[in-house]
Amino acid sequence: MSASANLECPICGGEVTLGGDTLQGELIECSDCGTELEVTSIKPFAVAEAPQEEEDWGE
Ligand SMILES: [Zn+2]
Repeated sequence: MSASANLECPICGGEVTLGGDTLQGELIECSDCGTELEVTSIKPFAVAEAPQEEEDWGE
């Protein structure tokens, strides 16, 4: 139960590989576009663009 998974980056469509030990909520970086992605689900694997916390948008 430790098979890796290949997903499509939601931003650039590039291939993102998740290891079998990836945890839900883990942050990974797309090797193609460099976007930070959050693992939103592990059954099955799914990723979404991580919330940007570096910029202060004046909320
Ligand atoms: Zn990407």
